[in-house]
Amino acid sequence: MDLKSLIRDIPDFPKPGIMFRDITTLLNDAEGLRYTIDTLAEKCRDKGLNPDYIVGMESRGFLFGVPLAYQLGAGFIPVRKPGKLPAAVHSIEYDLEYGTDTLEIHQDAVAAHHKVLIVDDLIATGGTAKATAELLQKIGCEVLGFAFIIELTFLEGRKKLPDLPIITLVEY
Ligand code: 5GP
Repeated sequence: MDLKSLIRDIPDFPKPGIMFRDITTLLNDAEGLRYTIDTLAEKCRDKGLNPDYIVGMESRGFLFGVPLAYQLGAGFIPVRKPGKLPAAVHSIEYDLEYGTDTLEIHQDAVAAHHKVLIVDDLIATGGTAKATAELLQKIGCEVLGFAFIIELTFLEGRKKLPDLPIITLVEY
């Protein structure tokens, strides 16, 4: 299936000069959505990735992470921006182009030695996925790998990530 044809390109969003890859049109397409989740699950199984939990990043990581977790028979854990999770959190601060950002995860959601797969809709610079992996590794989790629908290859985000399997479906 041609997933690219279901991903909408929005020029100059959220800033001038940025070509935003909009996955809402993919989610909107019943066959495209099913194909996306089934293919992610198949690639995980092919690579022998058998996580206890999928960890998905706010907010588009939730949209693909939950159905993938369901398919793989895993649980799902959200990673969120500061102040959104109601119970006690572990957090990590990471650098952006200008300034820093923070990601949080519930303390009681993860324990050392849990096997986790990190899922987001898209990898750009890799900063978000890298910070999520560091947060999980600090807790003592075993990060099995990463899965993204879209990779912006020209930003070379995968170079920032630890040397683990990376599943992607579409490249720009
Ligand atoms: P990174 O940390 O790799 O630079 O950025 C990845 C994060 O930014 C992901 O959470 C992703 O959802 C979001 N993101 C950045 N650019 C785009 C884009 O063009 N389309 C979508 N759907 N998400 C984007």
